[in-house]
Amino acid sequence: MDEVELAAEAISGSGSLALACHMLPDGDALGSMLALHHLCRAQGKASVASWPEPFVVGPHYTYLPGLDLVTKPADFPSAPEVMVTFDCGSLGRLGELAASAEAADLLVVVDHHATNDRYGGVNLVDPDAAASAVLVYRLVRHLGWPLTREAAICLYTGIVTDTGRFQYSNTTPEVFAMANDLARYDLPIAAMTRQLFEEHRFTYLKLVALALERAELDTDRRFVATWITTGDLERFGVELEETEGLIDLVRRAAEADVSCVLKETADGTRVSLRAVDDTDVAAIATTFGGGGHRAAAGFTSDRPIAEVLEAIRAALPAR
Ligand code: AMP
Ligand code: MN
Ligand code: MN
Repeated sequence: MDEVELAAEAISGSGSLALACHMLPDGDALGSMLALHHLCRAQGKASVASWPEPFVVGPHYTYLPGLDLVTKPADFPSAPEVMVTFDCGSLGRLGELAASAEAADLLVVVDHHATNDRYGGVNLVDPDAAASAVLVYRLVRHLGWPLTREAAICLYTGIVTDTGRFQYSNTTPEVFAMANDLARYDLPIAAMTRQLFEEHRFTYLKLVALALERAELDTDRRFVATWITTGDLERFGVELEETEGLIDLVRRAAEADVSCVLKETADGTRVSLRAVDDTDVAAIATTFGGGGHRAAAGFTSDRPIAEVLEAIRAALPAR
């Protein structure tokens, strides 16, 4: 039996489902999880959905239907019958919900990270899938469950964010076929696009100006990097979640193949890496305990920004 069939059997055979996505969830994590949450409700199947603390969503995702139907991680079942994780490459990315995953009778992993370590009992893992939302779509088709408009909005969010608005190389015929199907549900395309990719508070734009001003280009390594401190966030009144798209500006530098944004947090540094050539940034992130995809990866470190930046630089070949 293939993994889609195993996952479909686990889901249809269960009385209730506990759904969770990776910490600091992005559009694909939230979209793929909430889509299945909506469809469970439509099917009369009990489900809860959550992600680890900090239990907040970035300002880009507040339009997602179903954010009022989620459960605080503290109220998540400690030993679910069937638990499904979304867009989460390892148990570590589940934070405090990893304990529930380990205690579940059956754990179904729905993910597309190249670095996924297949930590489930059933692993619906396909690194060639453009988004975890693509895998949820395959799963739902296999289950024979009809889509709803809410689920379609969530699934569309997953694919449009993980393909960078249908621009990255993961934008396959399957993605366009899926988008074509989802578009039948009267999607608010323009409003979603504006909120996901364009709209920011003015103060964030000022923070971006500072971040671009201090960006460093290493022409030998074809590497561009910048950083944001907790002091910067305070000064501009910007939340960490608001800065998710900064890397997409930095990686525009023509002189660089690899780009990096480092963000100071209470416990260390969060790092985003991107490659526009064939550098495998997931491999680099893995050496720092993180993961991701070849062209987009990340990790967290308990070391300060300057040290982490130096270590990344040292991991890149000079040419
Ligand atoms: P980001 O730069 O946060 O947008 O993340 C880019 C990619 O790297 C996404 O696919 C993330 O799931 C993955 N990623 C980011 N941070 C981590 C981490 N600490 N551990 C594993 N994977 C990560
Ligand atoms: Mn994600
Ligand atoms: Mn994803």
